[in-house]
Formats: sequence, C-alpha cells, structure tokens
Amino acid sequence: MANRVKLKVPLDGCRVCLYEDGTEVTEDYFQRLPNNTELVLLPKGQSWHGYVSDIECLLGMSDEHSRSLIEAAQNLLVAEKAPKRRRLLQDFIANLSENTDAECREEDEAWFEGIDSRFKTKSAYLKYSCESRIRGYQKEVEDSVSKLNTQKLQTEYRKVVDVMINQLKQAKYNGCYFDRQEKECNHLCTQEGWFSCQGAFDTDKCLSLHSINPYGNRESRILFSTWNLDHRIEKKRAIIPALIEAVKNRNGREVNCNYFYRLLFTIDNLKLVHIACHKKTVHNLTCDAKRVYVRIKRKEKKQSTKK
Ligand SMILES: [Zn+2]
Ligand SMILES: [Zn+2]
Repeated sequence: MANRVKLKVPLDGCRVCLYEDGTEVTEDYFQRLPNNTELVLLPKGQSWHGYVSDIECLLGMSDEHSRSLIEAAQNLLVAEKAPKRRRLLQDFIANLSENTDAECREEDEAWFEGIDSRFKTKSAYLKYSCESRIRGYQKEVEDSVSKLNTQKLQTEYRKVVDVMINQLKQAKYNGCYFDRQEKECNHLCTQEGWFSCQGAFDTDKCLSLHSINPYGNRESRILFSTWNLDHRIEKKRAIIPALIEAVKNRNGREVNCNYFYRLLFTIDNLKLVHIACHKKTVHNLTCDAKRVYVRIKRKEKKQSTKK
C-alpha cells in the first residue's frame, strides 16, 4: 500500500475490513495502516470476522473442495523441512482424509491394514476391541481368587464370579459401547463414530474437549487404543478388595453380584478418557457398603416375624 492514497469505497453500503480480525477500516485508520496490510472488501450485508471466518470456511468445506485442499497440503508437505510445520500439515491431512462413512473392508482397505481378515466391518472390529477390554477386566477378577487362602472361600468367590460372567455373556461383553451401529444399547459414540472424552474420574467433563473418531482412518483407530475405559471406583484398589471382603464376611448373606457387575463392567462406573485425562493417582472412592450384600425384602421379613 503506497502512502498518500485515499480510501475510496466504490459502492454504497460496501465496507473495508482488516483481513486479520475484521476491524472496519475508516479513512483515518486507513492512513495509519502499515504497508502490505491485507484488506477485505465487503458488499452490503456481508461480514468478515478475520481468521475466525477463515476457519469457519475450512470447517464448512465440501468433500470436493477438501480433496483439492488435501492435495495442496500434500504438495507442501513433500518440500517441508521444519518439524513443527510438518506436523501441522500431517495432522491437517490426516483429519481431512478421514473416510468416516465407509464401513466395509472393500470401502476402506487402508483402515483395515493389519487387522485379521475375519473382521469385515469397522463396527465389528471396534465392538471386538471393546469386548477385549472387558474380558481383560474379567480375567483380573477371576485371577484374584488366589488372594483367598482356603478352598472353601475360593469356591464361594468363584460362584460369585460365575454369576457375573453369565451376566457378561448375556450382555455380549458390552462390546456395544464402541459399536456405532448398535441401536439398542447406550453406545459411547455418535452414529458417525465420534467419541468424546468424559473427563478425569474427579471431574464432570473434559476441559480439553478431547474427541476422536476411530472409524475415520487407520491412525485414529490405532490412537483410540490409548484411550482408557477408566474405573471411577478403582478395580484393583477398591472393587476387587471389597468383593474379596464380601465373600469372606458373608455370614449367610448373599453377595450382591449385580452391584459388583455394574461397577466392574458397565458404564455405571466406567469412563472413557483420553490418555491425558487418565489420572493414575489414587481415586479414593470406595464401594457402597450398604450395597455389597443383597438386601432381604420386607415381605419375607414380615412373613418370618408372623410365624
Ligand atoms: Zn479429556
Ligand atoms: Zn485408571
């Protein structure tokens, strides 16, 4: 921009704004602008909010446009040497090239790279990966039988665990939590497959607004395995020890298998969290002592007192 140029807006109702942040440029302001300031000419009724508008433009882009954008970014990446700019470009390309809608292997071969051929759909694979996590918890509960030191107590512990395992089988190991096609169960993702971090065990929500779509591309699928299904009331420090104590001190009472089942294996007590929101510190949350045993119903009590 040369000095001593007058600002003349051509048409009635038109305005001139700074490209950077959308500040309207007046005659006075115009004279004080540094050289090479980028300006936007706006027709009547239109607005410009600077970089925010650029970002919105990018977010609202059609698939066709994003394809050419990916191409442009890929060309830039080839020549790029600076690590920071490389990462920005790579993330940008990865995020834009998600093939979220594709479900079958034929539609998105790249997504299935390295996955057993028995998995034909993305949902089937993610369902399986959730099941595997839950089965891992089950194994830990089963193995804890060794913490009881008599045969009798071990048998009782196994009985309780067997009830839970049956419940798990009926619920198909709650694999539905990760399955975007599941309709009946309360899956943790949207229909498109987006998961949002539920925040650390001691917060209501994730302040970083972490989100991921493992259905989108191979890299997101792999990264998703670092997200944790975290027990609010901790499995190792609280639930399993409480279960062991419950079996030991049963005294004729019936252990509340359903209560323990819900704590160990369901989203009643499981939170899906991004690795940065997975605090490894002691949670200091304990099982509800009033719910450890099945409560005897009033009716039965009445009948027995009548007698
Ligand atoms: Zn988070
Ligand atoms: Zn944890």
